[in-house]
Amino acid sequence: MYKVLLIFSLVLFSFNNLHAQKPQKPTASEIYESIKKLNFLGSVLFIAAHPDDENTRLISHLANEVKARTAYISITRGDGGQNLIGTELGPLLGIIRSHELQEARKTDGGEQFFTRAIDFGFSKNPDETFSIWGKDDVLSDVVLAVRKFQPDIIINRFNHRTPGTTHGHHTASAILGVEAFDKAADKNAFTNQLTNHQPWQAKRLFFNTSWWFYGSQEAFDKADKSNLVALKTGTFYPSLGLSNGEIAALSRSKHQSQGFGNTGARGLDTEYLELLKGPMPSDPSNLFEGINTTWSRIEGGEAIGKILYQVERNFDFKNPAASIPQLVKAYQLLKKRTDYWGIQKTKEIKKIITSSSGLFLEAVAETQYTSPASEIKLSLEAINRSSTSMKLIEVIYNSKSLLKERKNLENNQRATIESTIVIPRNASYSSPYWMKQPASKGLFKVADLDLIGLPTINQNEPVYFKVSIEGEPFTFERDIIYKFNSPVTGEVYQPFQILPEVTGKINDKVLIFSEPKAQQVSVTIKAGKDNLSGIATLQHPEGWSTSAPQTFEMETKDEEKELIFTVTPPKNQSEGELNLLLQVGDSFYNQDIVTLNYDHIPFQHVLVPAKAKVARIELNIKGQNIGYIAGAGDEIPSALSQIGYQVTDINLESMTAENIKQFNAIIVGIRAYNVHDILRFRQDVLFDYVKNGGNLIMQYNVSRGLVTEQLAPFDLKLSRERVTDEDAKVTFINPNHPVLNSPNKITQKDFENWVQERGLYFANEWAEEFQPILRMNDPDEEAVEGALVIAQYGKGTIAYTGLSFFRQLPAGVSGAYRLFANLLSL
Ligand SMILES: [Zn+2]
Repeated sequence: MYKVLLIFSLVLFSFNNLHAQKPQKPTASEIYESIKKLNFLGSVLFIAAHPDDENTRLISHLANEVKARTAYISITRGDGGQNLIGTELGPLLGIIRSHELQEARKTDGGEQFFTRAIDFGFSKNPDETFSIWGKDDVLSDVVLAVRKFQPDIIINRFNHRTPGTTHGHHTASAILGVEAFDKAADKNAFTNQLTNHQPWQAKRLFFNTSWWFYGSQEAFDKADKSNLVALKTGTFYPSLGLSNGEIAALSRSKHQSQGFGNTGARGLDTEYLELLKGPMPSDPSNLFEGINTTWSRIEGGEAIGKILYQVERNFDFKNPAASIPQLVKAYQLLKKRTDYWGIQKTKEIKKIITSSSGLFLEAVAETQYTSPASEIKLSLEAINRSSTSMKLIEVIYNSKSLLKERKNLENNQRATIESTIVIPRNASYSSPYWMKQPASKGLFKVADLDLIGLPTINQNEPVYFKVSIEGEPFTFERDIIYKFNSPVTGEVYQPFQILPEVTGKINDKVLIFSEPKAQQVSVTIKAGKDNLSGIATLQHPEGWSTSAPQTFEMETKDEEKELIFTVTPPKNQSEGELNLLLQVGDSFYNQDIVTLNYDHIPFQHVLVPAKAKVARIELNIKGQNIGYIAGAGDEIPSALSQIGYQVTDINLESMTAENIKQFNAIIVGIRAYNVHDILRFRQDVLFDYVKNGGNLIMQYNVSRGLVTEQLAPFDLKLSRERVTDEDAKVTFINPNHPVLNSPNKITQKDFENWVQERGLYFANEWAEEFQPILRMNDPDEEAVEGALVIAQYGKGTIAYTGLSFFRQLPAGVSGAYRLFANLLSL
């Protein structure tokens, strides 16, 4: 029966989020606000492309003022962006952003969905975007979200009629919104979804416009607004002590990995919505005009409404529990319903009963993670902090009872139960569901329609607490959590995870063989349980060889063991993968653990393949002593160390002409001129270094927000020009330039197998001292020459490059190493 309940709720788009941070403990005013929300039966779906695209002012207004069920579907998880708070990129960054968005929604009152589409990096137009995502697949996901969420109103963040004016993902998201509005209602579209979901026709489709889309405030002021709905969104909510704009800012500030900390504004504000489909409301402030959002919307709803409107009217701020008998009555009328609002409102009512009574239910594991088939201790707590009559009837894990006898939950008397559970042998590992299978370039692979759209899920079996409240049995689901006390921050909650009994990693993710001789490769194996032994094998690509398999033995969980293998490359250039295979008994494991440990999102271990890229590169280097000025963070230094360079971090505070003259070359890290104010006072030192024979290489900087205009001793202007096609043809403007010839002869072959893009923020204006080296362009665009410009200054050389070496070197791209080695030897 419990299993049935779980499946049922998943089908109906419930969100069993990985919400294992502190449990929410609403105040009386917040409970009152959720009762008002309980009495509003209407919903809005907001559509855009990335984490950060969403308009948090509008979402907060709809969720907190209108009280609509409000959700944001971000087409991607933002995997392709840059990370301001750590080194995670790609899918790992996508996990961080998925959680940041959920935290943002917890703040502004919305809910969060995604599609399977991958943020593969910048895209200049929607056609390119769709060709990489697979338009039908992503459209299917948006249609599915509409059919599951059944929004009355759909709002696009972007304009679907202006391709090319913004990121291709943006326009694509708007096109998907327009098409899904009709397709979701079409019973002949995406029929595979119709086994469990009904076609759904939303009433209105809007585009959330603003002056920005008109080019200027002036143009917007003059524009015809007869087709626009204007919403006043500056409401002050006394029960929360915040203005709408302040909530929106708090929500936006959750996007820490993008550096979107935001200071809220108070006072009146207006949001404009342009009607794209459906009837124009005659009251231009009411999106829901003509849509019944009261309890009479649903069959049998009047009787429920009669009870719940009274609960709202008679709410006692001093004693919210006084509403419980009435809430239980409404629950009895709702609990058997299988319609959309019946299920949604049942969930809301259960939450309100829990918070009104101070009912606290928790299942705490003795450890943060364990492996399948293991036994762990569980501490259960149940407490009712009201005079409502309650009895704990049953506690269930994996269909087994954990409760010896029923317990009366007397007012404010804590019931604790110590129990032992066995994790099912076939339990799946706790790791993001969309990363369990290899993805294509544009799309994660998820077959299960119940999962598609969910932000994150806790795949562990939860604990079910069955509590009789006022004689009515309720079942509450709680994820098992782990918690401990930190002397600094107090109580810390972490999700409880199920992980393999053994994991391992190849310690360097990319191994470069610049000479045809064997290298030692270090592997670390980690025990996920006590008394573990097995055999480790390093699998290699064709033409390569590795030393023999080795046995390992560990006594205690979390113990790590390092093994050294010898890897021999072929004589000529070759790229491939090493895979670590661990055998324990009859079971084979090939996964590595990455830990995400940030304060603003749930702590978690993530499973990734235990592999490394190997590349045999025919590479010559010259001038090994390199100074490095760290920018916003890149992995260039460790990549260079691997191929024999000595890289020293330069401290900008104490940098002098004297202490940098020893370097054969100095590299400026990505976005250094965006993040280090002090650099504008250090340019003279760097220019003198070049003048006296040094070699300065600046990696890309964002063209806006530079700390100095004087990037070089000569004019040099940056732009937003970029080439996003990683296979774009590259021509050599001056094939005889040393950077293309020495010590490595660069050919077209060196521009093969690049990842994500050629580069970004190219220079677009430069003094004649600078020589452009490469010419390239995206499909259907004019060629640009600012990807790499090099000038002589005094006895030295200064180069600016927008080529994305910061992506290519960590990815082990042979040609990028050869070209970078040439830059360093200028
Ligand atoms: Zn965006």
